[in-house]
Amino acid sequence: MYSRMLVLRFPKTEVEKPIVCYLASDFNLTFNILKATILPRKEGVMVMELSGTRKDFKKGVQYLKEHRVQVQAVGQDIKRNTTKCTHCGACTAVCFTGALSIKRPEMTVVFNHKKCSVCALCVPACPPRAMEVRTIGNTILK
Ligand code: SF4
Ligand code: SF4
Repeated sequence: MYSRMLVLRFPKTEVEKPIVCYLASDFNLTFNILKATILPRKEGVMVMELSGTRKDFKKGVQYLKEHRVQVQAVGQDIKRNTTKCTHCGACTAVCFTGALSIKRPEMTVVFNHKKCSVCALCVPACPPRAMEVRTIGNTILK
């Protein structure tokens, strides 16, 4: 599963069309709209988290661009606060990429940043909130 936080900008000619709903039905993607400002005949802005396979994600973004929607990825990164981490292992149960794993026989939790998809599932799963999301700027997806 691949997941990114996106900012979508709709030109005023497209703002009243049901473009976003086809991301689910035609591209097998799920989305969670966090904020939307859509007004008739004005440019619309929507912030959403879009998830699916990388292949479907790419096709969905291509579809949005074909409808003249500007797609901007909100850059995020995940960091583990090693001072807060108690090595309880709770995060490894939700980390499907294997970025968080238990090292044996030490039984310590290791974080492999290269494997991280920045899905942020580990953030609420961590009791002392040692997994932290950082925003690192925006990039327009091409
Ligand atoms: S954000 Fe957390 S749960 Fe998701 S892949 Fe990265 S380490 Fe694993
Ligand atoms: S859930 Fe939090 S405290 Fe527990 S091992 Fe993972 S990062 Fe450390």
